[in-house]
Amino acid sequence: MTEASDTLHTPPQRVIPFSPPDITQAEIDEVVDTLRSGWITTGPKTKELERQLASFAHAARVACLSSATSALECALRALGIGPGDEVITSAYTYTASCSPICHVGATPILVDVAPGSYEMDYAKLEQAITPKTRAVIPVDIAGRLCDYSVLSQVVDSLAPSFIPHNERQEALGRIALVADGAHALGATRNGRHAGEIADMTTFSFHAVKNFTTAEGGALAWRRGLFDDEELYRDVMLMSLHGQTKDALSKTRAGAWEYDIAFPGWKCNMTDIQAALGLAQLRRYPEMLARRRAIVHAYQKGLADLPLSILSHYENADHSDASDCDDAVARACEEGLSSSGHLFLVRMPGKSPQFRNALIERLGQAGVASNVHYKPLPLLSAYQSLGFHACDYPCAIAQFENEITLPLHTKLTDEDVAYVISAFHAAWDDLESKGIS
Ligand SMILES: *Cc1c(COP(=O)(O)O)cnc(C)c1O
Repeated sequence: MTEASDTLHTPPQRVIPFSPPDITQAEIDEVVDTLRSGWITTGPKTKELERQLASFAHAARVACLSSATSALECALRALGIGPGDEVITSAYTYTASCSPICHVGATPILVDVAPGSYEMDYAKLEQAITPKTRAVIPVDIAGRLCDYSVLSQVVDSLAPSFIPHNERQEALGRIALVADGAHALGATRNGRHAGEIADMTTFSFHAVKNFTTAEGGALAWRRGLFDDEELYRDVMLMSLHGQTKDALSKTRAGAWEYDIAFPGWKCNMTDIQAALGLAQLRRYPEMLARRRAIVHAYQKGLADLPLSILSHYENADHSDASDCDDAVARACEEGLSSSGHLFLVRMPGKSPQFRNALIERLGQAGVASNVHYKPLPLLSAYQSLGFHACDYPCAIAQFENEITLPLHTKLTDEDVAYVISAFHAAWDDLESKGIS
């Protein structure tokens, strides 16, 4: 083919990144304001973001930290979980749902997903619980909240045999539900928000997440459970050396004196990060609505292919609600509304080779795609801890033909149409070559 005919028949190439940050003048102005203010580390903007996030997530309190990973570690430490304890999470997740269990010295227990699902198999979860189990970490993959009513039933039913090791565990009276809500800020289930459902919820504000502070995260907990002031103070101490006064309070005239309560960690959020968050939060409802529109466009555009697409918006009767307008969206509150973080597509019957070739073809067309997730038992770290892929057949089956398409608020309608046509072209090309 000559160069001229090539350009004639190829649609203009676009470059579609997987998940670029959506930063506008509002974020830039807020960061510049912080830089000019003379206060750049944890201070007034971090405290303001905590208040606004708690209100947004309907949580008792929110503690902003350096990442969701550190938030999860603080959650486990605040619950007094450590050596000799077991904590259960899903085999189908990113390592950061599990590594904090190792960091506090507890033993991670991985549970397979239910067949055809990205959520833990709740029957297998029940079997995995032992007298040593202190917490379960469900993962709200793609921003779709897990079934917390079933999860609560499981931990409630075992409450009579739960022996608390400290005051917070006693206040709970059962195994703790600590949601990995890294993807889930703004998600709801039956009208309740991520942040008010599980006992504790961690959010990630990493650069690729829906809502970003470049790096950052938060720990939220639900109302009426803990001594909120005391828990907040403990998390702040953990995040800043165990120092009894943070940098801001120490700068107030005559207030130099401080103590170190214990040798703590260092995982506080800075005001520069919080400035990004404050601007992002003002835009966030609009960003969530845009994600919903893109999910709907993808679903429509790919409906003719034999795919299994994770549903993000469901009415109470489980029908698709992705095309709800605002009025209907409120009615949808009696159902499920995710944060639209990841567009997970499975290709039933297709091999990992097909999936990988599809990713490559999309890449040649300028479309970045991804795989979420390589189950933990396939990773060296977890194999060294004694986990074997053969014990997690459903997670492996989910993973083998999964592909994640770009879903973010920098995508234009034309970009979305381009991804859909590139997907069709790649699919047809592979099928015509007899690859399956
Ligand atoms: C991103 C992510 C995390 C970790 O978030 P950080 O803020 O980078 O620590 C945890 N769990 C899941 C499922 C994630 O995708």
